[in-house]
Amino acid sequence: MQTHTLTAIASRRVLTPEGMIDGHVLFNGSGQIEAVSAGAPPAGAQVHDVGNKVVMPGLVDTHVHINDPGRAHWEGFETATGAAAAGGVTTLIEMPLNSIPSTTSVDAFETKVSAAKGRLAVDVGFWGGVVPGNTDELKALFEAGAWGFKCFLSPSGVDEFENAGLEDLEKALPILSRLGAVLQVHAEWPPALNPAAWDGADVRDHGAWLATRPPRAEREAVEHLLALSRRFDAHIHIVHVADVDTARLIGEARSAGARVTAETCPHYLTFCAEEIPLGATAFKCAPPLRQSKHREGLWEALGNGWLDFVVTDHSPSPPELKCLDTGDFAAAWGGIASLQLLLPAVWTGARRRGHSLEVLGQWLCQGPAAMASLQDRKGALAAGLDADVVVWDPDAEFEVQAEALLHRHKVTPYAGMRLAGVVEQTWVRGRRVYDRTSTTRPDQGPFVGSVLQRGGTWAKRDEKKPQQG
Ligand SMILES: [Zn+2]
Repeated sequence: MQTHTLTAIASRRVLTPEGMIDGHVLFNGSGQIEAVSAGAPPAGAQVHDVGNKVVMPGLVDTHVHINDPGRAHWEGFETATGAAAAGGVTTLIEMPLNSIPSTTSVDAFETKVSAAKGRLAVDVGFWGGVVPGNTDELKALFEAGAWGFKCFLSPSGVDEFENAGLEDLEKALPILSRLGAVLQVHAEWPPALNPAAWDGADVRDHGAWLATRPPRAEREAVEHLLALSRRFDAHIHIVHVADVDTARLIGEARSAGARVTAETCPHYLTFCAEEIPLGATAFKCAPPLRQSKHREGLWEALGNGWLDFVVTDHSPSPPELKCLDTGDFAAAWGGIASLQLLLPAVWTGARRRGHSLEVLGQWLCQGPAAMASLQDRKGALAAGLDADVVVWDPDAEFEVQAEALLHRHKVTPYAGMRLAGVVEQTWVRGRRVYDRTSTTRPDQGPFVGSVLQRGGTWAKRDEKKPQQG
């Protein structure tokens, strides 16, 4: 071991899997953690002492829509991963539906991997898609390096990615179960959706959008999925739970042994339907933002373990598709952009409700890493894992300026909000990709991020030399 290649980040608050310590994270020139220890770093290491700032694992966001290739005018690899770096997110797994082609075959997967190389500020992996008719592709897609799969029960919003019926899942789940691959599901049950709620309603009224997608659509979908999970002994992950009774249903099923995990998103924990102004379509997402009793219930569901973790569902679009001028909730794209704000948005609400930094690390780092089978490399500060680190100040506050966000289009319902938690530095495999005091923008390189491929290709990561941007 060459001591001169060792770097240490030292702080009075270093978050380890065993709790907070006054110490340091020590990593080598290959970007792997050598040790996480109390006390002073070893002599000879290059030391970055960050004082009382929190040193935490880089966040793992398993629910991000990048839309590249094919819809890169909606979002793109440089802008999305630049926003991630500025927000302390060091690993993200990208959803299969919004790119063209959508990631439902090995060819499409390889197209996406090639498109991403050399354009990533943080590490990125890809989910594959389960759609009607692609059963025969699933095994090869997983073996090519997809981290698992995603499907929709209700229409996805893009024509290239058709929603799956129960008969499609009955074909897919035996295969995924044998492979040990997770199936993530957008769980809204089509027969329980109520488009008739638009009749005679003001399209600028979020309440009408809410009425078209009632809580029982989530519950009924999850009931079907729990039955499928039991029948095929398959791991099903429910994305973006917005209804508190659905969270309870999942929590109780898991207590009884069901192989199910579930997430919610920062917007369901931050906003509530009662407070959405007329025509404010930046707030449109599906399932919709529900009443404040659901918001508070979802915090409790995280606290008592019914829900596992929080990821963004970052899903931006060009501003014209958000119909900001007409405020038309029926026509607007359903998706909220928040990748850069995951840490402060969740911390602001968590702190207010008395949750600790240790619990925050579970929700934003370890939990999502485990669901995506990344826990051997990501999501914790521990020897042998990648030196992915966020340094941040949980006590500092800031006002969200839309122009300061690095994702492609600056539309976000968080604009103007005051949040706690300022990201100071982000490190990916031992390289600093973001420093708040620097004028270098992470969306302009150097692009040190790798494409993360599962299994045998995990070791063949894209070790391209960083480009100087
Ligand atoms: Zn999504």
